[in-house]
Amino acid sequence: MHAPGVPRVSDGELISTNPATGELAGQFPVADADAVGRAVERARLAAEWWAGLGFAGRRARLLRWRALMANRITELAGLSHLETGKPVVEAVVEAVSAIDHLDWAARNAKRVLGRRRVRSRLPVAEFSARLEYQPFGVVGVIGPWNYPVLTPLGSIGYALAAGNAVVSKPSEYTPAVGQWLVDTFAEVVPEQPVLQAVQGLGDVGAALCRSGIDKLAFTGSTRTAKVVMAACAETLTPLVIEAGGKDAVIVDTDADLDAAAEACVWGAFTNAGQTCIGIERAYVAAPVYDAFVDKVVTRAGRLTVGLDDADLGPITMPDQIATIRRHIEDAVERGGRAVLGGPDAVRPPYVHPTVLVDVPEDAEAVREETFGPTLTISRVSDAEEALTRANAAQYALGGAVFGRRRATRIAARMRSGMTAINSTLTFVGMPTLPFGGVGNSGFGRIHGADGLREFARSKAVTRRRGPSLLPAMTFERTPAHLDRIVKATKLMYGR
Ligand code: NDP
Repeated sequence: MHAPGVPRVSDGELISTNPATGELAGQFPVADADAVGRAVERARLAAEWWAGLGFAGRRARLLRWRALMANRITELAGLSHLETGKPVVEAVVEAVSAIDHLDWAARNAKRVLGRRRVRSRLPVAEFSARLEYQPFGVVGVIGPWNYPVLTPLGSIGYALAAGNAVVSKPSEYTPAVGQWLVDTFAEVVPEQPVLQAVQGLGDVGAALCRSGIDKLAFTGSTRTAKVVMAACAETLTPLVIEAGGKDAVIVDTDADLDAAAEACVWGAFTNAGQTCIGIERAYVAAPVYDAFVDKVVTRAGRLTVGLDDADLGPITMPDQIATIRRHIEDAVERGGRAVLGGPDAVRPPYVHPTVLVDVPEDAEAVREETFGPTLTISRVSDAEEALTRANAAQYALGGAVFGRRRATRIAARMRSGMTAINSTLTFVGMPTLPFGGVGNSGFGRIHGADGLREFARSKAVTRRRGPSLLPAMTFERTPAHLDRIVKATKLMYGR
């Protein structure tokens, strides 16, 4: 008997089950390296057709897909609930965000990537200049299981809007949701396999890296990101990496503590803490520390845990429970105190909300990604110390600041790709903003205009529009020309 939620391959099929009940979520043929290669070949032809539709043709089709998802959001959320165990309401919120991103990417691709004139400069004024962003061709997307709709679509939606075909490798924990996305796309774009899925375990992802794709978008752990980057290096395949996080909140003395506690509890415990931008650490200025801890514990203590109608669902990846347990036990052994939960909160497949205080800064619970419903709260003398400690992590994905007078300045100095002021995680639902990390959290950006450009390469074109006044780029320049160029340079730049 296999443990619930642990994916297994049987008779060439990947079998996915609910992490709490073991109920079947779906089963799919596993792709081998040849099948991955064939999918990429098919995608190459599809990419030509898709690129040929132009921005308007793609926009119309992507908006139809968006409409399908919106109309069938309950079905999608139900499937995600079945496969990951996450509460239906969380699955709905995730899908809403994904739909909004798709809408924005479809509507804005032409404005961001379309051909435009750019200004010339005086020394080359005889040439006009044009810029456009062309699709790469075939983009591979490797995704995690924690947000199986929003996370892959943050790459897939933007890559498609930019004119690429996509071959996606869903996490082995969420193949059914990955397949649903592909199948529904094919309902609105039946002509060509513009979006395909290759199913299987990590080796299928590895095969995708080596399959001749033109760009890879990887979302997952920092550990796997390094393996993936090494594989892509063999063929100089460019990639964008969205990896792990250890996000912090800073609570300043002038923060609205009720609002801070409410947002912090949501940021830490949503999706049972299985969130790359989940809040795992809080640094709180001494004068408001005790009140903040009380308010967090009160709110987090009210959260319910279970499969149906609960605030927190099970831990989707059973292996992760050992890491969560180790981080909690290590924190307590090293002098930390559990003011809510603690080692007994780990009751597989569930982990109940755990709030730890007085944990040493070098403990795993403060340094490593826990990826569970735990939060450490540390007392700091002021916002300056909070920043130093928050910025000391090897990860730097998102973060948050609560406060009034200094909040904007603190946010700017937080080492992260995104920081929310007086809220948590909100930047991920903002399609106009880029999303991505620093350091061990990865590089490159998804979402927003930067996210569209991530899936396109710039193409620059100059065109002569008249004779050269300062003919520098020709062997036919004369000493008089050179004299004129030198004089002009001094005139233009010499002051
Ligand atoms: P993993 O790194 O374990 O897996 C990510 C994906 O990579 C999966 O599809 C996995 O396939 C695949 N994979 C595994 N081995 C290889 C390989 N050798 N070559 C190519 N692909 C491979 O991460 P998780 O799925 O556990 O996701 C959780 C992690 O993702 C956390 O660290 C979290 O912070 C991060 N994350 C980051 C986000 C961001 O935007 N920055 C967003 C969401 C999550 P398989 O599942 O079959 O093993």
